[in-house]
Amino acid sequence: MRNVQILPEEVIKRIAAGEVIERPSSAIKELVENSLDANADEIMIRLKRSGKTLIEIKDNGTGIDSDDLETIFLRHATSKIRNIDDLEMIKSLGFRGEALYSLASISDITLKSKTDLQENGWEINIRANEKKHLKPISCNKGTTIQIKELFFNTPARRKFLKSDTTEMKNILNILIPYCLTYFNCSFKLINEEKTIIDLEKTDRKLSRIAKIFSLDPKNITFTQAKLNENISAAIFLGDINIQRTRKDLQFIMINNRPIKNNSLTFHINQIYQKMLSPNKYPFFCLDLEINSQLIDVNTHPTKKEVRLTNEAEVTSLIRSLTKQALSSSNVKKVPLIYNEKFFERNQPTVNNSIEENYQKITEQEFDIFQKDFSQPLNNEFRKRLENTQYIGIFINKYILFQHDNSLFIIDQHAASERINYEDLLNKANSNSVQRQYLLEPKITNLTYQETIVWEEFKDILQTLGFETTRWDKSSIAIHTHPDSIKNPESLIKDILNGDLKPEPNLEKISRLACRYSLMAGAYLNKEQALILKNNLLKCSEPFTCPHGRPTVIEIEEKFLERQFLRN
Ligand code: ADP
Ligand code: MG
Repeated sequence: MRNVQILPEEVIKRIAAGEVIERPSSAIKELVENSLDANADEIMIRLKRSGKTLIEIKDNGTGIDSDDLETIFLRHATSKIRNIDDLEMIKSLGFRGEALYSLASISDITLKSKTDLQENGWEINIRANEKKHLKPISCNKGTTIQIKELFFNTPARRKFLKSDTTEMKNILNILIPYCLTYFNCSFKLINEEKTIIDLEKTDRKLSRIAKIFSLDPKNITFTQAKLNENISAAIFLGDINIQRTRKDLQFIMINNRPIKNNSLTFHINQIYQKMLSPNKYPFFCLDLEINSQLIDVNTHPTKKEVRLTNEAEVTSLIRSLTKQALSSSNVKKVPLIYNEKFFERNQPTVNNSIEENYQKITEQEFDIFQKDFSQPLNNEFRKRLENTQYIGIFINKYILFQHDNSLFIIDQHAASERINYEDLLNKANSNSVQRQYLLEPKITNLTYQETIVWEEFKDILQTLGFETTRWDKSSIAIHTHPDSIKNPESLIKDILNGDLKPEPNLEKISRLACRYSLMAGAYLNKEQALILKNNLLKCSEPFTCPHGRPTVIEIEEKFLERQFLRN
Protein backbone atom coordinates (compact mmCIF):
# COMPACT_ATOMS: atom_id res chain seq x y z
CA MET A 1 0.00 0.00 0.00
CA ARG A 2 1.38 3.36 -0.99
CA ASN A 3 1.85 6.04 1.68
CA VAL A 4 4.45 8.20 0.01
CA GLN A 5 3.50 10.86 -2.53
CA ILE A 6 5.30 13.58 -4.41
CA LEU A 7 4.31 16.96 -2.97
CA PRO A 8 2.19 19.22 -5.16
CA GLU A 9 3.98 22.11 -6.90
CA GLU A 10 2.40 24.82 -4.68
CA VAL A 11 3.84 23.13 -1.56
CA ILE A 12 7.26 22.63 -3.14
CA LYS A 13 7.40 26.35 -3.91
CA ARG A 14 6.83 27.21 -0.26
CA ILE A 15 9.42 24.85 1.15
CA ALA A 16 12.60 26.44 2.49
CA ALA A 17 15.11 25.03 0.03
CA GLY A 18 18.75 24.53 0.83
CA GLU A 19 21.53 22.10 1.32
CA VAL A 20 20.59 19.40 3.80
CA ILE A 21 23.54 17.02 3.57
CA GLU A 22 26.85 18.72 4.19
CA ARG A 23 28.72 16.17 6.28
CA PRO A 24 28.18 12.82 8.03
CA SER A 25 26.48 14.53 10.97
CA SER A 26 23.81 16.06 8.73
CA ALA A 27 23.12 12.66 7.13
CA ILE A 28 22.78 11.11 10.58
CA LYS A 29 20.42 13.88 11.70
CA GLU A 30 18.08 13.25 8.76
CA LEU A 31 18.15 9.47 9.20
CA VAL A 32 17.56 9.59 12.94
CA GLU A 33 14.66 11.97 12.39
CA ASN A 34 13.19 9.48 9.92
CA SER A 35 13.50 6.64 12.44
CA LEU A 36 11.87 8.74 15.16
CA ASP A 37 9.07 9.80 12.80
CA ALA A 38 8.51 6.08 12.18
CA ASN A 39 7.94 5.67 15.96
CA ALA A 40 11.07 3.62 16.52
CA ASP A 41 12.07 3.06 20.13
CA GLU A 42 15.37 1.36 19.33
CA ILE A 43 17.93 3.12 17.16
CA MET A 44 21.36 1.71 16.47
CA ILE A 45 23.99 3.64 14.52
CA ARG A 46 27.15 1.98 13.27
CA LEU A 47 29.89 4.05 11.63
CA LYS A 48 33.23 3.64 9.98
CA ARG A 49 35.62 6.60 10.02
CA SER A 50 33.02 8.77 11.75
CA GLY A 51 30.57 8.15 8.91
CA LYS A 52 32.93 9.03 6.07
CA THR A 53 33.01 5.48 4.73
CA LEU A 54 29.95 3.91 6.33
CA ILE A 55 26.78 5.06 8.08
CA GLU A 56 24.35 2.36 9.07
CA ILE A 57 21.15 3.13 10.97
CA LYS A 58 18.85 0.37 12.12
CA ASP A 59 15.47 1.08 13.69
CA ASN A 60 12.45 -0.91 14.83
CA GLY A 61 9.92 1.60 13.48
CA THR A 62 6.92 1.08 11.21
CA GLY A 63 8.99 0.13 8.19
CA ILE A 64 8.33 1.13 4.56
CA ASP A 65 5.88 -0.62 2.28
CA SER A 66 7.55 -2.27 -0.73
CA ASP A 67 5.28 -0.20 -3.02
CA ASP A 68 7.00 2.93 -1.73
CA LEU A 69 10.58 1.76 -1.84
CA GLU A 70 11.46 3.42 -5.11
CA THR A 71 9.35 6.53 -4.56
CA ILE A 72 11.04 7.53 -1.30
CA PHE A 73 14.24 8.33 -3.20
CA LEU A 74 12.50 10.81 -5.48
CA ARG A 75 12.66 14.51 -4.78
CA HIS A 76 9.82 15.90 -2.59
CA ALA A 77 8.46 12.41 -1.88
CA THR A 78 7.02 12.17 1.62
CA SER A 79 4.37 10.36 3.62
CA LYS A 80 4.27 13.11 6.23
CA ILE A 81 2.35 15.94 4.61
CA ARG A 82 0.00 16.04 1.64
CA ASN A 83 -1.07 19.62 0.97
CA ILE A 84 -0.50 23.26 1.75
CA ASP A 85 -2.68 23.21 4.87
CA ASP A 86 -0.51 20.49 6.42
CA LEU A 87 2.44 22.90 6.24
CA GLU A 88 0.70 25.02 8.90
CA MET A 89 0.60 22.24 11.47
CA ILE A 90 3.61 20.04 11.14
CA LYS A 91 3.81 17.33 13.80
CA SER A 92 6.63 15.21 12.37
CA LEU A 93 10.35 16.00 12.36
CA GLY A 94 10.60 15.67 8.57
CA PHE A 95 8.15 16.93 5.95
CA ARG A 96 10.05 18.01 2.84
CA GLY A 97 10.87 14.68 1.26
CA GLU A 98 14.38 15.78 0.42
CA ALA A 99 16.76 13.83 2.64
CA LEU A 100 16.69 10.42 0.98
CA TYR A 101 16.75 12.00 -2.45
CA SER A 102 19.80 14.13 -1.57
CA LEU A 103 21.58 11.23 0.10
CA ALA A 104 20.89 8.91 -2.82
CA SER A 105 22.47 11.35 -5.25
CA ILE A 106 25.80 11.48 -3.42
CA SER A 107 26.34 7.95 -2.14
CA ASP A 108 25.64 4.27 -2.43
CA ILE A 109 22.54 3.38 -0.37
CA THR A 110 21.19 0.00 0.59
CA LEU A 111 17.87 0.12 2.40
CA LYS A 112 16.15 -2.89 3.96
CA SER A 113 12.69 -2.57 5.40
CA LYS A 114 9.68 -4.56 6.55
CA THR A 115 6.27 -3.44 7.79
CA ASP A 116 3.93 -5.37 10.09
CA LEU A 117 1.57 -6.02 7.19
CA GLN A 118 4.13 -7.65 4.94
CA GLU A 119 5.36 -11.21 5.19
CA ASN A 120 8.86 -10.54 4.11
CA GLY A 121 11.09 -7.51 3.86
CA TRP A 122 12.59 -5.86 0.79
CA GLU A 123 16.01 -4.56 -0.04
CA ILE A 124 16.77 -1.79 -2.50
CA ASN A 125 20.16 -0.53 -3.64
CA ILE A 126 20.58 2.90 -5.19
CA ARG A 127 23.80 4.51 -6.34
CA ALA A 128 23.91 8.13 -7.51
CA ASN A 129 20.10 8.10 -7.88
CA GLU A 130 20.19 4.97 -10.04
CA LYS A 131 18.40 1.82 -8.90
CA LYS A 132 20.75 -1.19 -8.89
CA HIS A 133 18.47 -3.84 -7.40
CA LEU A 134 15.20 -4.42 -5.54
CA LYS A 135 14.71 -7.87 -4.03
CA PRO A 136 12.78 -9.66 -1.28
CA ILE A 137 14.74 -10.58 1.84
CA SER A 138 13.98 -11.87 5.30
CA CYS A 139 14.32 -9.35 8.13
CA ASN A 140 12.52 -8.04 11.22
CA LYS A 141 10.04 -5.18 11.23
CA GLY A 142 11.75 -1.83 10.86
CA THR A 143 14.27 -0.18 8.57
CA THR A 144 18.02 -0.48 8.14
CA ILE A 145 19.74 1.99 5.91
CA GLN A 146 23.37 1.68 4.91
CA ILE A 147 25.21 4.57 3.31
CA LYS A 148 28.58 3.88 1.76
CA GLU A 149 31.00 6.23 0.07
CA LEU A 150 29.34 9.48 1.11
CA PHE A 151 30.20 12.24 -1.41
CA PHE A 152 31.95 9.76 -3.76
CA ASN A 153 30.84 11.81 -6.77
CA THR A 154 31.28 15.26 -5.18
CA PRO A 155 35.03 15.48 -4.45
CA ALA A 156 34.82 19.15 -3.45
CA ARG A 157 32.44 18.27 -0.63
CA ARG A 158 34.55 15.30 0.38
CA LYS A 159 37.62 17.50 0.62
CA PHE A 160 35.75 19.75 3.00
CA LEU A 161 35.40 17.03 5.61
CA LYS A 162 37.41 17.44 8.80
CA SER A 163 39.40 14.91 10.85
CA ASP A 164 37.55 11.85 12.13
CA THR A 165 37.56 13.31 15.66
CA THR A 166 36.05 16.61 14.53
CA GLU A 167 33.41 14.85 12.46
CA MET A 168 32.60 12.67 15.47
CA LYS A 169 32.22 15.76 17.65
CA ASN A 170 29.80 17.17 15.09
CA ILE A 171 27.84 13.92 15.12
CA LEU A 172 27.61 13.97 18.91
CA ASN A 173 26.53 17.61 18.91
CA ILE A 174 23.72 16.77 16.51
CA LEU A 175 22.70 13.46 18.03
CA ILE A 176 22.72 14.24 21.75
CA PRO A 177 19.72 16.60 21.71
CA TYR A 178 17.64 13.81 20.14
CA CYS A 179 18.88 11.35 22.77
CA LEU A 180 17.78 13.87 25.41
CA THR A 181 14.33 14.46 23.97
CA TYR A 182 13.47 10.90 22.99
CA PHE A 183 14.41 9.37 26.33
CA ASN A 184 11.96 6.50 25.82
CA CYS A 185 13.97 5.36 22.81
CA SER A 186 17.24 3.45 23.17
CA PHE A 187 20.25 4.77 21.28
CA LYS A 188 23.46 3.04 20.46
CA LEU A 189 26.31 4.67 18.56
CA ILE A 190 29.31 2.61 17.50
CA ASN A 191 32.28 3.94 15.56
CA GLU A 192 35.01 1.60 14.31
CA GLU A 193 33.59 -1.16 16.58
CA LYS A 194 33.94 1.14 19.61
CA THR A 195 30.75 1.92 21.55
CA ILE A 196 30.44 5.65 22.10
CA ILE A 197 26.81 5.98 23.19
CA ASP A 198 24.80 3.23 24.83
CA LEU A 199 21.54 4.52 26.28
CA GLU A 200 18.73 2.26 27.39
CA LYS A 201 15.14 3.44 27.20
CA THR A 202 13.90 5.10 30.33
CA ASP A 203 10.66 6.72 31.42
CA ARG A 204 12.42 9.51 33.29
CA LYS A 205 14.02 12.30 31.38
CA LEU A 206 16.17 13.23 34.36
CA SER A 207 17.80 9.77 34.30
CA ARG A 208 18.61 10.25 30.62
CA ILE A 209 20.12 13.69 31.29
CA ALA A 210 22.22 12.36 34.15
CA LYS A 211 23.41 9.42 32.07
CA ILE A 212 24.35 11.42 28.98
CA PHE A 213 26.33 14.10 30.76
CA SER A 214 27.49 12.11 33.80
CA LEU A 215 25.72 14.65 35.99
CA ASP A 216 24.39 14.11 39.48
CA PRO A 217 20.56 14.45 39.41
CA LYS A 218 20.85 16.18 42.80
CA ASN A 219 22.36 19.14 40.97
CA ILE A 220 19.41 19.54 38.62
CA THR A 221 16.06 21.08 39.42
CA PHE A 222 12.86 20.74 37.39
CA THR A 223 9.96 23.07 36.92
CA GLN A 224 7.07 23.44 34.50
CA ALA A 225 4.18 25.78 33.75
CA LYS A 226 1.31 26.24 31.37
CA LEU A 227 0.80 29.74 30.06
CA ASN A 228 -2.45 28.98 28.23
CA GLU A 229 -3.88 26.14 26.16
CA ASN A 230 -1.39 26.91 23.39
CA ILE A 231 1.89 27.28 25.25
CA SER A 232 3.51 25.31 28.04
CA ALA A 233 7.10 24.85 29.16
CA ALA A 234 9.14 22.39 31.19
CA ILE A 235 12.71 23.11 32.12
CA PHE A 236 15.57 21.26 33.79
CA LEU A 237 18.07 23.67 35.33
CA GLY A 238 21.51 22.88 36.65
CA ASP A 239 22.64 24.44 39.91
CA ILE A 240 25.94 26.13 40.67
CA ASN A 241 27.79 22.82 40.72
CA ILE A 242 27.51 22.57 36.96
CA GLN A 243 29.61 25.32 35.42
CA ARG A 244 30.85 25.09 31.86
CA THR A 245 33.32 27.26 29.99
CA ARG A 246 31.05 27.10 26.93
CA LYS A 247 27.32 27.02 26.35
CA ASP A 248 27.63 23.37 25.37
CA LEU A 249 25.14 21.97 27.87
CA GLN A 250 22.19 24.16 26.90
CA PHE A 251 19.30 22.69 24.96
CA ILE A 252 16.00 23.98 23.65
CA MET A 253 13.32 21.83 22.07
CA ILE A 254 10.03 22.94 20.62
CA ASN A 255 7.47 20.16 20.26
CA ASN A 256 10.27 17.61 20.63
CA ARG A 257 12.37 19.19 17.90
CA PRO A 258 15.84 20.35 18.98
CA ILE A 259 16.30 23.95 17.83
CA LYS A 260 18.55 26.96 18.31
CA ASN A 261 17.10 30.14 19.71
CA ASN A 262 19.65 32.78 20.67
CA SER A 263 17.14 35.02 22.36
CA LEU A 264 15.81 32.40 24.80
CA THR A 265 19.37 31.17 25.44
CA PHE A 266 20.45 34.72 26.24
CA HIS A 267 17.60 35.29 28.70
CA ILE A 268 18.19 32.09 30.63
CA ASN A 269 21.94 32.74 30.87
CA GLN A 270 21.27 36.27 32.03
CA ILE A 271 19.27 35.03 35.00
CA TYR A 272 22.14 32.75 35.96
CA GLN A 273 24.68 35.56 35.78
CA LYS A 274 24.41 36.50 39.44
CA MET A 275 24.90 32.91 40.52
CA LEU A 276 27.88 31.80 38.44
CA SER A 277 31.48 32.92 38.13
CA PRO A 278 32.19 35.20 35.18
CA ASN A 279 32.37 33.41 31.82
CA LYS A 280 30.81 30.26 33.19
CA TYR A 281 27.62 28.82 31.76
CA PRO A 282 24.98 26.57 33.28
CA PHE A 283 23.27 23.41 32.14
CA PHE A 284 19.66 23.71 31.05
CA CYS A 285 17.23 21.77 28.94
CA LEU A 286 14.06 23.60 27.96
CA ASP A 287 11.07 21.80 26.45
CA LEU A 288 8.41 24.01 24.93
CA GLU A 289 5.05 22.70 23.80
CA ILE A 290 3.49 25.19 21.47
CA ASN A 291 0.43 24.80 19.27
CA SER A 292 1.96 23.97 15.89
CA GLN A 293 -0.10 26.70 14.24
CA LEU A 294 1.82 29.28 16.27
CA ILE A 295 5.24 28.21 15.04
CA ASP A 296 6.88 27.99 11.65
CA VAL A 297 9.48 25.24 11.22
CA ASN A 298 9.66 25.89 7.51
CA THR A 299 12.11 28.77 7.83
CA HIS A 300 15.45 26.98 7.65
CA PRO A 301 16.51 24.14 5.32
CA THR A 302 17.77 21.98 8.17
CA LYS A 303 14.91 23.10 10.44
CA LYS A 304 17.28 24.14 13.22
CA GLU A 305 15.57 27.47 13.67
CA VAL A 306 11.88 27.84 14.30
CA ARG A 307 9.89 31.06 14.11
CA LEU A 308 7.62 31.75 17.08
CA THR A 309 4.54 33.90 16.65
CA ASN A 310 4.39 34.69 20.37
CA GLU A 311 8.08 35.10 21.11
CA ALA A 312 7.61 37.87 23.71
CA GLU A 313 5.07 35.85 25.67
CA VAL A 314 7.25 32.76 25.58
CA THR A 315 10.32 34.72 26.70
CA SER A 316 8.57 36.23 29.68
CA LEU A 317 7.22 32.81 30.70
CA ILE A 318 10.70 31.28 30.52
CA ARG A 319 12.28 34.16 32.43
CA SER A 320 9.85 33.99 35.30
CA LEU A 321 9.97 30.19 35.41
CA THR A 322 13.77 30.20 35.54
CA LYS A 323 13.93 32.96 38.16
CA GLN A 324 11.41 31.29 40.37
CA ALA A 325 13.07 27.88 40.13
CA LEU A 326 16.53 29.22 40.87
CA SER A 327 15.40 31.22 43.86
CA SER A 328 13.88 28.14 45.47
CA SER A 329 15.68 27.09 48.63
CA ASN A 330 16.35 23.65 47.17
CA VAL A 331 18.71 25.02 44.56
CA LYS A 332 22.30 25.10 45.70
CA LYS A 333 23.91 28.48 45.37
CA VAL A 334 27.15 27.53 47.03
CA PRO A 335 29.38 25.09 45.21
CA LEU A 336 29.86 21.69 46.77
CA ILE A 337 32.36 20.05 44.52
CA TYR A 338 34.89 22.83 44.21
CA ASN A 339 37.67 22.89 46.74
CA GLU A 340 39.00 25.89 48.57
CA LYS A 341 41.01 26.89 45.49
CA PHE A 342 37.71 27.76 43.88
CA PHE A 343 37.01 30.29 46.58
CA GLU A 344 40.55 31.56 46.41
CA ARG A 345 40.17 32.34 42.74
CA ASN A 346 36.84 34.00 43.22
CA GLN A 347 37.79 36.27 46.08
CA PRO A 348 37.25 39.92 45.34
CA THR A 349 40.59 41.60 44.84
CA VAL A 350 39.81 44.91 46.48
CA ASN A 351 38.82 44.77 50.10
CA ASN A 352 38.73 47.01 53.18
CA SER A 353 41.83 45.53 54.66
CA ILE A 354 44.58 45.10 52.11
CA GLU A 355 46.34 42.60 54.35
CA GLU A 356 43.33 40.29 54.35
CA ASN A 357 43.33 40.28 50.65
CA TYR A 358 46.89 39.28 49.99
CA GLN A 359 47.14 35.75 48.84
CA LYS A 360 50.01 34.19 50.66
CA ILE A 361 52.73 33.00 48.39
CA THR A 362 53.74 29.49 49.32
CA GLU A 363 57.17 28.12 48.62
CA GLN A 364 55.88 26.25 45.65
CA GLU A 365 54.30 29.36 44.22
CA PHE A 366 57.54 31.14 44.79
CA ASP A 367 59.08 28.86 42.21
CA ILE A 368 58.13 31.28 39.46
CA PHE A 369 60.86 33.59 40.75
CA GLN A 370 63.51 30.94 40.43
CA LYS A 371 62.84 30.11 36.84
CA ASP A 372 65.87 30.17 34.66
CA PHE A 373 65.53 31.56 31.21
CA SER A 374 68.39 31.56 28.80
CA GLN A 375 67.14 33.73 25.94
CA PRO A 376 69.46 36.70 25.26
CA LEU A 377 68.18 40.22 25.74
CA ASN A 378 68.27 42.09 22.50
CA ASN A 379 66.30 45.15 21.61
CA GLU A 380 66.21 48.71 22.74
CA PHE A 381 63.04 48.48 24.78
CA ARG A 382 64.39 45.49 26.63
CA LYS A 383 67.51 47.46 27.56
CA ARG A 384 65.56 50.39 28.85
CA LEU A 385 63.23 48.19 30.85
CA GLU A 386 66.24 46.40 32.23
CA ASN A 387 67.66 49.63 33.54
CA THR A 388 64.51 50.78 35.28
CA GLN A 389 64.23 51.41 38.98
CA TYR A 390 61.39 50.08 41.08
CA ILE A 391 58.78 52.58 42.25
CA GLY A 392 56.04 50.44 43.73
CA ILE A 393 52.90 48.43 43.17
CA PHE A 394 49.54 49.88 42.23
CA ILE A 395 46.35 48.08 43.40
CA ASN A 396 48.05 44.67 43.43
CA LYS A 397 47.92 44.57 39.66
CA TYR A 398 50.55 46.85 38.20
CA ILE A 399 54.24 47.15 39.01
CA LEU A 400 55.65 50.63 38.42
CA PHE A 401 59.24 51.35 37.35
CA GLN A 402 61.06 54.43 36.11
CA HIS A 403 63.94 55.11 33.78
CA ASP A 404 65.11 58.47 32.41
CA ASN A 405 61.90 60.37 31.80
CA SER A 406 59.62 57.40 31.44
CA LEU A 407 57.22 55.50 33.62
CA PHE A 408 57.08 51.74 32.89
CA ILE A 409 54.04 49.76 33.99
CA ILE A 410 54.10 45.97 34.04
CA ASP A 411 50.78 44.15 34.15
CA GLN A 412 51.62 41.56 36.77
CA HIS A 413 49.01 39.06 35.58
CA ALA A 414 49.91 39.29 31.89
CA ALA A 415 53.62 39.10 32.69
CA SER A 416 53.15 36.00 34.86
CA GLU A 417 51.21 34.34 32.07
CA ARG A 418 54.01 35.04 29.58
CA ILE A 419 56.64 33.68 31.97
CA ASN A 420 54.61 30.59 32.81
CA TYR A 421 53.71 29.96 29.19
CA GLU A 422 57.29 29.98 27.97
CA ASP A 423 58.44 27.98 30.95
CA LEU A 424 55.78 25.30 30.43
CA LEU A 425 56.44 25.14 26.72
CA ASN A 426 60.25 24.96 27.11
CA LYS A 427 59.98 22.24 29.70
CA ALA A 428 57.41 20.29 27.69
CA ASN A 429 59.63 20.52 24.61
CA SER A 430 62.62 19.25 26.53
CA ASN A 431 60.56 16.67 28.41
CA SER A 432 61.44 18.11 31.78
CA VAL A 433 58.10 19.21 33.25
CA GLN A 434 58.12 18.89 37.04
CA ARG A 435 55.18 16.71 37.92
CA GLN A 436 53.13 16.77 41.06
CA TYR A 437 52.01 13.23 41.94
CA LEU A 438 48.58 12.92 43.47
CA LEU A 439 48.24 10.45 46.32
CA GLU A 440 44.81 9.54 45.09
CA PRO A 441 43.92 10.01 41.45
CA LYS A 442 41.43 12.76 40.78
CA ILE A 443 38.43 11.22 39.02
CA THR A 444 36.96 13.58 36.47
CA ASN A 445 33.69 13.00 34.65
CA LEU A 446 33.73 13.74 30.94
CA THR A 447 30.96 14.25 28.41
CA TYR A 448 30.96 12.13 25.24
CA GLN A 449 32.55 14.94 23.29
CA GLU A 450 35.22 15.52 25.93
CA THR A 451 36.01 11.80 25.96
CA ILE A 452 36.74 11.60 22.25
CA VAL A 453 38.88 14.73 22.40
CA TRP A 454 40.73 13.31 25.40
CA GLU A 455 41.53 10.14 23.42
CA GLU A 456 43.23 12.33 20.85
CA PHE A 457 44.98 14.67 23.30
CA LYS A 458 46.14 12.35 26.02
CA ASP A 459 49.69 12.08 24.66
CA ILE A 460 50.08 15.85 24.46
CA LEU A 461 48.65 16.15 27.97
CA GLN A 462 51.25 13.61 29.08
CA THR A 463 54.10 15.69 27.61
CA LEU A 464 52.76 18.70 29.48
CA GLY A 465 52.87 16.82 32.76
CA PHE A 466 49.32 15.54 33.03
CA GLU A 467 49.19 11.77 33.36
CA THR A 468 45.65 10.67 32.74
CA THR A 469 44.09 7.24 32.29
CA ARG A 470 40.59 6.08 31.54
CA TRP A 471 38.74 5.36 34.80
CA ASP A 472 35.44 4.09 33.45
CA LYS A 473 33.22 4.75 30.43
CA SER A 474 32.47 8.31 31.41
CA SER A 475 35.47 9.41 33.44
CA ILE A 476 39.23 9.69 33.50
CA ALA A 477 41.68 9.63 36.38
CA ILE A 478 44.28 12.40 36.73
CA HIS A 479 47.45 11.03 38.32
CA THR A 480 49.91 13.90 37.91
CA HIS A 481 49.89 17.52 36.88
CA PRO A 482 52.60 20.12 36.25
CA ASP A 483 53.57 21.53 39.62
CA SER A 484 53.08 25.10 38.47
CA ILE A 485 49.39 24.55 37.80
CA LYS A 486 46.54 24.95 40.21
CA ASN A 487 43.10 23.43 39.71
CA PRO A 488 44.25 20.79 37.16
CA GLU A 489 40.76 19.36 36.80
CA SER A 490 39.26 22.60 35.47
CA LEU A 491 42.28 23.10 33.27
CA ILE A 492 41.89 19.68 31.64
CA LYS A 493 38.20 20.42 31.06
CA ASP A 494 39.16 23.73 29.47
CA ILE A 495 41.70 22.04 27.24
CA LEU A 496 39.20 19.39 26.12
CA ASN A 497 36.63 22.06 25.34
CA GLY A 498 39.06 24.63 24.04
CA ASP A 499 39.16 26.02 20.59
CA LEU A 500 42.27 24.18 19.42
CA LYS A 501 41.42 23.97 15.75
CA PRO A 502 42.67 22.96 13.32
CA GLU A 503 45.19 20.77 15.14
CA PRO A 504 45.91 20.67 18.82
CA ASN A 505 49.53 21.31 19.63
CA LEU A 506 51.71 22.00 22.60
CA GLU A 507 51.75 25.73 22.06
CA LYS A 508 48.01 26.09 21.99
CA ILE A 509 47.57 23.93 25.04
CA SER A 510 50.32 25.75 26.95
CA ARG A 511 48.57 28.99 26.13
CA LEU A 512 45.44 27.70 27.81
CA ALA A 513 47.39 26.20 30.65
CA CYS A 514 49.24 29.37 31.62
CA ARG A 515 45.91 30.88 32.69
CA TYR A 516 45.85 28.39 35.48
CA SER A 517 49.34 29.18 36.60
CA LEU A 518 50.03 30.18 40.12
CA MET A 519 50.78 33.75 41.02
CA ALA A 520 48.44 35.86 38.97
CA GLY A 521 46.87 38.33 41.38
CA ALA A 522 49.16 37.52 44.29
CA TYR A 523 50.75 40.25 46.38
CA LEU A 524 54.39 40.88 45.54
CA ASN A 525 57.06 42.59 47.60
CA LYS A 526 59.81 44.63 46.00
CA GLU A 527 62.23 41.76 45.68
CA GLN A 528 59.64 39.53 44.02
CA ALA A 529 58.57 42.33 41.68
CA LEU A 530 62.17 42.71 40.52
CA ILE A 531 62.52 38.99 39.91
CA LEU A 532 59.29 39.03 37.93
CA LYS A 533 60.67 41.83 35.76
CA ASN A 534 63.94 39.96 35.21
CA ASN A 535 62.20 36.73 34.31
CA LEU A 536 59.96 38.59 31.92
CA LEU A 537 63.02 40.09 30.25
CA LYS A 538 64.42 36.62 29.76
CA CYS A 539 61.38 35.51 27.77
CA SER A 540 61.72 35.23 24.03
CA GLU A 541 58.68 37.46 23.50
CA PRO A 542 58.40 39.45 26.69
CA PHE A 543 56.12 42.27 25.60
CA THR A 544 52.87 40.46 24.95
CA CYS A 545 51.08 37.86 26.99
CA PRO A 546 50.32 34.53 25.24
CA HIS A 547 46.84 35.82 24.42
CA GLY A 548 48.15 38.93 22.70
CA ARG A 549 47.73 41.60 25.39
CA PRO A 550 50.69 43.85 26.28
CA THR A 551 52.70 42.99 29.39
CA VAL A 552 54.50 46.34 29.70
CA ILE A 553 53.64 49.87 28.68
CA GLU A 554 55.81 52.96 28.75
CA ILE A 555 54.46 56.42 29.54
CA GLU A 556 56.79 59.29 28.74
CA GLU A 557 56.97 62.42 30.82
CA LYS A 558 55.93 64.41 27.74
CA PHE A 559 52.60 62.60 27.72
CA LEU A 560 51.95 63.49 31.35
CA GLU A 561 52.89 67.10 30.75
CA ARG A 562 50.39 67.33 27.99
CA GLN A 563 47.73 65.89 30.27
CA PHE A 564 48.51 68.57 32.84
CA LEU A 565 48.53 71.22 30.11
CA ARG A 566 52.11 72.07 30.98
CA ASN A 567 53.60 72.34 27.53
P1 ADP B 1 10.70 13.33 4.89
O1 ADP B 1 11.23 12.81 6.16
O2 ADP B 1 10.73 14.80 4.80
O3 ADP B 1 9.34 12.78 4.56
P2 ADP B 1 12.82 11.77 3.64
O4 ADP B 1 13.48 11.89 2.32
O5 ADP B 1 13.64 11.85 4.84
O6 ADP B 1 11.65 12.86 3.69
O7 ADP B 1 12.04 10.38 3.66
C1 ADP B 1 11.09 10.09 2.65
C2 ADP B 1 10.04 9.11 3.15
O8 ADP B 1 10.64 7.84 3.38
C3 ADP B 1 9.42 9.49 4.48
O9 ADP B 1 8.35 10.38 4.32
C4 ADP B 1 8.97 8.13 5.01
O10 ADP B 1 7.72 7.78 4.49
C5 ADP B 1 9.99 7.17 4.44
N1 ADP B 1 11.04 6.79 5.42
C6 ADP B 1 12.31 7.22 5.42
N2 ADP B 1 13.00 6.67 6.43
C7 ADP B 1 12.16 5.87 7.08
C8 ADP B 1 12.27 5.01 8.24
N3 ADP B 1 13.43 4.87 8.91
N4 ADP B 1 11.16 4.32 8.63
C9 ADP B 1 10.00 4.45 7.96
N5 ADP B 1 9.83 5.25 6.88
C10 ADP B 1 10.89 5.95 6.44
MG1 MG C 1 13.23 12.90 6.68
